[in-house]
Amino acid sequence: MTSITPASSSGRLGVLRRYQRYLPLTDSTPLITLGEGDTPLVRSRRLGPRLGCEELYFKLESCNPTGSFKDRGMVVAVAKALEDGAKAVLCASTGNTSASAAAYAAHAGLQAYVLVPRGNVAQGKLAQAVAHGARIVAVDGNFDDALRLARAITDKHPIPLVNSLNPHRIEGQKTAAFEIVDALGDAPDLLFIPVGNAGNITAYWKGFVEYFQAEQAGRKPRLMGFQAAGAAPIVRGEPVADPQTVATAIRVGNPASWAKAVAARDESGGRIDAVTDEQILEAYRLLAQEEGVFAEPASAAAVAGLLQVAAAGDAPSTGSGQALRDKTIVCVITGSGLKDPETAMSVEAQVTDVPPTVEAVEEALGLA
Ligand SMILES: *Cc1c(COP(=O)(O)O)cnc(C)c1O
Repeated sequence: MTSITPASSSGRLGVLRRYQRYLPLTDSTPLITLGEGDTPLVRSRRLGPRLGCEELYFKLESCNPTGSFKDRGMVVAVAKALEDGAKAVLCASTGNTSASAAAYAAHAGLQAYVLVPRGNVAQGKLAQAVAHGARIVAVDGNFDDALRLARAITDKHPIPLVNSLNPHRIEGQKTAAFEIVDALGDAPDLLFIPVGNAGNITAYWKGFVEYFQAEQAGRKPRLMGFQAAGAAPIVRGEPVADPQTVATAIRVGNPASWAKAVAARDESGGRIDAVTDEQILEAYRLLAQEEGVFAEPASAAAVAGLLQVAAAGDAPSTGSGQALRDKTIVCVITGSGLKDPETAMSVEAQVTDVPPTVEAVEEALGLA
């Protein structure tokens, strides 16, 4: 019997194989995969029509192996670390980077070292890092402190930093833009995306520009980035010392890719704006209850941004209700709501306890 080791049995190629020619791979880069990428682009059933936008899509990056888009970049960063003979990788994280680093490190046989801001990581994300055997340090500080320490330690020790400062992360993450163009036949008019450390908006822009240059797309989208109001350094034009938001994945006061995000915004003719936690939680509820999409709060920030733009467009002061009409729009759902059960339960804990009888269940369900 010949022995064949498929990338995965599902037929998924993974990001490295599928987009090999757009990535910085060599003959000695191991083509590892956990089945990342190739995520669904789901058409909105209710929100889009309500906004007068027939072509509204959600890019479900929550469907990646560890439940966030971080896997696209991590698979490249970890493959390159393996190629370079590394024994470990290190990152600072608001949660999803550490979950992804821990999973891909385990897959590759590397040790993951993870620095998180103490007390500000959603339970599910921490559980992932723990389960995959990462060495986890909770820093008494915020994400920006953890990233500063991660940079200092990887400067001092021969361990690759796998935060989005690592250009391989951006290379991998740009493949989401390729997939959107491949699915729609061209770039959308507008792309709504949450902004934290600003690596992802940078990566999407790189992807759209590269696909345009390779004549795979006939146009480039305007990028509409959204920060949380309590953690909006790019919108305010200065670092935020003590960033605060329910959307922990974008609780970043001094984004590493700040200048690149501003360039992506300006080159695309787009915007970076802020939405409040209240708007984020309203979008979170809408997505889950009217679209069937369980996103984490940070992801809902992009949808909150869409609602904000729609509302502004309808305002008499601007005189235009047309901002979104007839546009093809993609909202990036960056991570899964399952990662943050505390937020889900605090928003919608509606469970009724009953004795085990048909009558009691009927009554509780309102069917009596
Ligand atoms: C990392 C992350 C973000 C923010 O992405 P940046 O590249 O840091 O701007 C948004 N949403 C989720 C779910 C994330 O994990």
